[in-house]
Amino acid sequence: MNRVAHYLQEHVAGEVMTGNDARAYFSTDDSIFTLVPNVIVYPKNENDVRKTARFIWQLAERGRAIPLTARGSGTDLTGAAIGSGIMLVYPAHLNQVKFFDTKASEITVEAGINFGKLQQLLVSYNRVIPSAPASLEYSTLGGAVANNAASRRSFKYGSIRNYVRGLRVVLSNGEVIETQRISKRELNRKLGLSTFEGEVYRSIDTLIEENRSLVEKSVLSISKNATGYDIADIQHKDGSFDLTPLFVGSQGTLGLITEVTLGTELYNEPTSLVTAYFDSVDDLQAAVIELRGLSEAPSAIELVDENLLNTVSAENANYLKEIISAPYPKFVLLVEFDDMSEHDRRKGSKKAAKVLGKYSQSVILENDPEKQKLIWKVRDASALLSGHAIGQTNPLPLIDDGVVPLDKLSSFLSGIYEQFKREHLQVAVWGHAGDGNLHVQPHLDLSQVGDRQKAFRMLEDFTTQMRQLGGSTSGRYNEGRLRGPYLPKLYPDDVYQLFIKVKKIFDPYNILNPGVKISVSSDEVKPLLRSKYSLEHIYDHLPLS
Ligand SMILES: Cc1cc2nc3c(=O)[nH]c(=O)nc-3n(C[C@H](O)[C@H](O)[C@H](O)COP(=O)(O)OP(=O)(O)OC[C@H]3O[C@@H](n4cnc5c(N)ncnc54)[C@H](O)[C@@H]3O)c2cc1C
Repeated sequence: MNRVAHYLQEHVAGEVMTGNDARAYFSTDDSIFTLVPNVIVYPKNENDVRKTARFIWQLAERGRAIPLTARGSGTDLTGAAIGSGIMLVYPAHLNQVKFFDTKASEITVEAGINFGKLQQLLVSYNRVIPSAPASLEYSTLGGAVANNAASRRSFKYGSIRNYVRGLRVVLSNGEVIETQRISKRELNRKLGLSTFEGEVYRSIDTLIEENRSLVEKSVLSISKNATGYDIADIQHKDGSFDLTPLFVGSQGTLGLITEVTLGTELYNEPTSLVTAYFDSVDDLQAAVIELRGLSEAPSAIELVDENLLNTVSAENANYLKEIISAPYPKFVLLVEFDDMSEHDRRKGSKKAAKVLGKYSQSVILENDPEKQKLIWKVRDASALLSGHAIGQTNPLPLIDDGVVPLDKLSSFLSGIYEQFKREHLQVAVWGHAGDGNLHVQPHLDLSQVGDRQKAFRMLEDFTTQMRQLGGSTSGRYNEGRLRGPYLPKLYPDDVYQLFIKVKKIFDPYNILNPGVKISVSSDEVKPLLRSKYSLEHIYDHLPLS
């Protein structure tokens, strides 16, 4: 490998490192896995990314395929930001704003820009990207795009896919392409190119033409889904064509994103907030379904359960003081409206309060921003759990992102409680009830063989449950190494085979982040389990919302 490092040192403008401490640092992300890279590159510019990819491609042509992993800030929860070969670490240099069209409200940035800084800049121009992950202060825009990140407001605004207008991407052979929605005429021009880009366009176009019904079958009946490849949004009814959706959510397995052009929304601070307490899971589900049908769309419908509140107040009796008192209701639901006009916000929140009044014991409507901040602490209590060890056990990101159709929300919740009871584990649930997307993290000690086995048993049970409920194992964090082995269980086999073909078209030598998302087996993943889990990369940035 040293020869590879030497070649890169001579040919790229950025830094190339092979020291043990650097390799150890980049051997973890925020997942339960570890994998030590051989070489770390901080690309200075797009040309460095291009040269690295080109060199690796040439080695692969000669029979030596070295994995190439793009990395933002490494907050990935699925083991997709680690790799055994060359790691391209973006944030050091590729972090600039390239172009900000304030009139069109579009911004073009390099992929390694910190999402929090980008958001700050936008807000100073009264704009915002509403699909930023809670981890935005310590993660990159490129990572959010590659994971198809979502926020609690994704209930109204959708995931970041809805804001990505175009990309610059380095393909596996080092060629640079630009993607955006193109007309049929432009597509015909692309189809005639004699480059790798032309080959990609021809192959994807043919794949879609020949598999129309499978492409439709790839869409799961849920409000959001971060698994598989988005093959359903490439071709539009008017004949226009866009490769962008394929790269969004592809976790660096199809191409190396260098620039992103994003649309934005008007920034608006004031909101209305309605809070309701439930003691019945069926009433909760009925209320959420009715809220989803409101003509005035809430911006967020969020949930925490009593176990979470009990855990947090046992840790810190003052945290929830003056907001909510024990004994806690089984579920607390928070419904937010963020419309620009105060009239619309109040109208929406009144309607929501009426719906909630039918199903819940207690409804509170709050328009005062200071009091709202206090109430949101109930939901944000989930962040305190991430660092909450019990003895030698830590809460693990394992089965923390399931998403189901809304009429299966109560079955999802009951299934979680049963599973944790079966495994004799404490449980606490929170998440995005409006999307049927719930978070839960089992406390396990990865140094214990029994708990390591339990982790994979829980993953399998969880996947079975998601499939039976017609849902997905991931609404926002993606599958990565963690849930990749179970992807074939989630989709019909012919759809999964289509994903494999897509990967092969873009990455015939399997260079780009191999072992992530597609064609992953649990046998190759199990040895990568860490013996101790930690969130060391992000402790600079508490609280970990
Ligand atoms: C406490 C905590 C809270 C979180 N909250 C949320 C949340 O609310 N919503 C949410 O969606 N996620 C959340 N996440 C998950 C994660 O933080 C986000 O997905 C984040 O956007 C990842 O950004 P990153 O820069 O850390 O990417 P990384 O972890 O470095 O990479 C993520 C993936 O993107 C790929 N990638 C990175 N850059 C590029 C590039 N330039 N080209 C191609 N591929 C690339 C990597 O190979 C990897 O597969 C959370 C994580 C933590 C630890």
